[in-house]
Parts: sequence; structure tokens; C-alpha cells
Amino acid sequence: MGEILDGKALAAEVRAEVGRGVAALVESGGPRPGLTVVRVGNDPASEVYVRGKRTASEGAGIAAVERHLPETTTEGELLAILDELNADPAVHGVLVQLPLPEQIRSTVVLDRVSPAKDVDGFHPDNVGLLVQGRARFKPCTPHGVMRMLDAAKVDLAGKEAVVVGRSEIVGKPVALLLLERHATVTICHSRTRDLASVVRRADVVVAAVGRPEMVRGDWIRDGAVVVDVGINRLPTGKLVGDVEFAAAKERASLITPVPGGVGPMTIAMLLFNTLEAARAAHAGGPSEKTR
Ligand code: NDP
Repeated sequence: MGEILDGKALAAEVRAEVGRGVAALVESGGPRPGLTVVRVGNDPASEVYVRGKRTASEGAGIAAVERHLPETTTEGELLAILDELNADPAVHGVLVQLPLPEQIRSTVVLDRVSPAKDVDGFHPDNVGLLVQGRARFKPCTPHGVMRMLDAAKVDLAGKEAVVVGRSEIVGKPVALLLLERHATVTICHSRTRDLASVVRRADVVVAAVGRPEMVRGDWIRDGAVVVDVGINRLPTGKLVGDVEFAAAKERASLITPVPGGVGPMTIAMLLFNTLEAARAAHAGGPSEKTR
């Protein structure tokens, strides 16, 4: 029976580590890291996520600010705010909470965030660096997945890793990070033929689909490591992942729960990236603009 990878406890450790890093940076004459989260409109889930990010930031000594804009905000108005934040030396990390209202193109907006402040790691410059194995900011969820695997001392070299899902924010970047660590990586998606047989080969499974318990327990090879990124709310209100947890746990050697697995790690890695951004800004000294 599989051991549970406790993301909640590990995330608390990472947050404490970031808190110590913030204190050390300030102590050495550096800036207090500043994170601004821009939220547009009234998506209820976004409101909860942003509150979580702010609370966790403040707990680690990061100065977190939310810019909440009305649902009717135009793309031009949002871009102007991003330009202002990009130029503000007290802001080290800028994050635009998705989804955005339909009049705003998210690609245009995400491309406008300064790559040096792009703590989500979504800017094409940062994606390019990730592809080349020299990431500036690893996207928070994949970063959290890797941190969990490292904490559990999972040796990835030569292992068969199967990632289910190919989104820009989870599937693709996590596959790249696994590849960087010398796993043999297969990326599956909605057109994959016979998903069950691909997953059955895996020493490490990362599920990021967004379909409740779609990865069945009997697809899991004995002793496999299972990381479940999915967060799905059932009509009953219960949260479940993309993996059939109870059955998969019987076969896995290690498995992440939902909730309490990857979710808390995502926020912890956002704080980590914000500290890194502030350290880099300090090391680089003030730019011409801010001098
Ligand atoms: P997306 O909807 O962007 O991507 C889902 C992926 O799953 C797509 O690549 C899609 O394939 C694939 N897919 C859909 N149906 C199937 C199928 N039947 N068989 C195989 N693959 C399939 O989702 P995200 O990556 O943004 O999120 C995935 C899940 O992770 C969600 O539950 C989300 O809530 C959760 N999440 C959790 C986070 C956390 O902090 N823990 C952070 C981010 C997301 P195709 O490309 O062909 O359409």
C-alpha cells in the first residue's frame, strides 16, 4: 500500500524556508520582496485563490498586493497597469490571475508581464529558458511537483514517466522538468490511443486532466509513484483528483492526495519564485529607470 506524499506539510516547510530567505535578504540590505496579483472580474474561484496567495505571501514576509479590476476592464487598461507594475521597483513579482474576461486576450496580457517579474513562468522568454533547461522561474505547479518528488527522494533517471495532460501551465512544463531529470517521458492527451496501456508502463504518473478519477486504480503499475494535479469538485461538494485514489493507493509506492497534495505546493512555489525575483533584482542593482 502506498505512502502518502503530504503536500500540506511540505508546503509549510517551503513557506518557512522562504520566510527565512526573505528575512536574510532584508537583513543584508535587500528589498522586501513584493508580489502584485492582478485579478479582473468576479470569478469566485479566482477570489479564493488570490486570497490564499496573499495570506501565504504575508506569512512569509512578502509584501502582497491585490489589484482588483472590474469585469468591464479593457485589454488596453490592463496592459497599462502591467506597464506600471513592470516599472515599479517595489514590485518583484507580477501575476495575472486567470481566467480573464472574454474581451481580454490572455496571451497578449501574459506576454506583457516583464520576464524578470513573471513569477508564474508563463512569458515566452521564460518558457524558452525552461525548454533549454535553464529556467528563470519554473511554473509554480510543475515546480511544486518536482519539489515533492525530490523531498520523497524519487530517483527519476531512466524511469518511465507518463504525464496525462498537455496544458501550458501543467502538462508541458512538468514533462520538460521530468525530461531534464533524465526520465523517459510520454505526454498523453485527449487523442492518445489506449491511455490505460500507456499509464500501465509508468514508473511515475503525473495526472493533470481535470476529470474526476479518470485515471483508474488498475492502470497503476505496482510500486509506481503517482502525482495527482487534478482538482475536481463533485456535485456533492467533495474535492477529488484525476486519479481513482483509493484503488491507486493499493498499488502505488507513493501517491499524492487531493486535497492536501500538489495544491498547497503551488502557492509555496509562487512565494519561492517571488523571493528569487527579489534576490535577482537586488543582485542586479537598480535599473536606469529606478535609479
Ligand atoms: P487543461 O484543461 O488546460 O488541460 C487538460 C489536459 O487534459 C489537456 O491536455 C487535454 O487534452 C487532456 N485531456 C482531457 N481529456 C482527456 C482524456 N480523456 N484523456 C487524456 N487526456 C485528456 O487543464 P490544466 O492542465 O489547467 O489542469 C488540469 C487539472 O489540474 C485540473 O483539474 C485543474 O483544476 C488542476 N490544476 C491544479 C493545480 C494545483 O495547484 N494543484 C494548478 C493547475 C491546475 P487536449 O490537449 O487534447 O485537449
